[in-house]
Amino acid sequence: APPPRPAPSGEALRLAGLRRDFGGFQALKGLDLEIRPGEFVALLGPSGCGKTTALNCIAGLQPLSAGTISLGDRRIDELPPERRGFGMVFQSYALFPHMNARRNVGFGLAMQRVPRREAEKRIDEALALVRLSAQADKLPGQMSGGQQQRVAIARAIVIRPPVVLMDEPLSNLDAKLRLEMRAEIRRIHEAIGSTTIYVTHDQDEALSMADRIVVMRDGLIRQTGTPEELYERPAHADVAEFMGYRSKLAGRVVSASNGRASVEACGARLEVSVRAPVSPGDPVTLMVRPEDLVAGTSGVVATVRISEYRGRAFFGAAQAIDGTELFFRSDRPVSTGERVTLGARPDQILVFAGSGA
Ligand code: ATP
Repeated sequence: APPPRPAPSGEALRLAGLRRDFGGFQALKGLDLEIRPGEFVALLGPSGCGKTTALNCIAGLQPLSAGTISLGDRRIDELPPERRGFGMVFQSYALFPHMNARRNVGFGLAMQRVPRREAEKRIDEALALVRLSAQADKLPGQMSGGQQQRVAIARAIVIRPPVVLMDEPLSNLDAKLRLEMRAEIRRIHEAIGSTTIYVTHDQDEALSMADRIVVMRDGLIRQTGTPEELYERPAHADVAEFMGYRSKLAGRVVSASNGRASVEACGARLEVSVRAPVSPGDPVTLMVRPEDLVAGTSGVVATVRISEYRGRAFFGAAQAIDGTELFFRSDRPVSTGERVTLGARPDQILVFAGSGA
């Protein structure tokens, strides 16, 4: 493989007050985000939250309704897509079916009138980087989905873009290939040094690939942070839900002292760690991950609805007396209809103010 090139731009990408309206509907309600040169940022959020719209606005494929985009100290939001020169990779590979891999990769260079010898050299580099040198003469129809997506990535990076934009690039691949391609994309990102913005609704992808995750919802940024920060300290209940805290219990504080509180929820007393102060009587929402809510001897009594064996343990869903749905782990076999007592360590329970968090 060719030696990695230095960062193509070394300039920060800044979004300020980004808004995008469709008629009366606000798909983006004002995004502010600064992305460091060479950073890998994942835009994560449920369907319809505005991820694709944000990416398209950054690419210049859609106009802004308000706000600015700058690269370094230059405004770029007035520039057409080709003058921004960003690389794009889509879910549908969008390759030309009648061109072989080589010509697909070279297409953008031809458009930019890069001299032929230089173009050939860059195409070779890009194909080598995505490990497709041996497939250069194949048509898209003669390649696997994973190989086609590599061609699309090579095509995006061959123009040496300062920023690469990827919109759910792995969605059309099977689970095994998806896993391999995560590492591949991360490797390519590091080799070329471009800034990467990666849209996904899959938290595992975001957690495993990104330097920083931006969680969106309803056209707004809910939280940004490193994978670890979002996983360990989600700031809102909806972010927590997205990060896998599946059980949500409405509760009321009974007593509180020294970073600990005792909370009554689903007919039980649970000890929790608290970061923000709470007082007796406060309504709170507790959230726990399935792997941390364990069938044992103390906690919430619930009736098992579903239980399945997953290698090391059983995972299941159970219903508490008040109807709350709880997702738990059990290290011994449990079956439908059985009563279990579900508890978690105080530091494994997230506490949000308000009962409707
Ligand atoms: P998905 O993961 O499903 O692609 P997303 O987070 O990428 O979702 P967007 O495609 O950005 O979401 O859409 C955001 C919102 O804007 C949605 O409610 C969508 O219906 C709306 N929207 C997108 N494009 C248009 C359009 N051309 N006209 C009207 N509304 C649109």
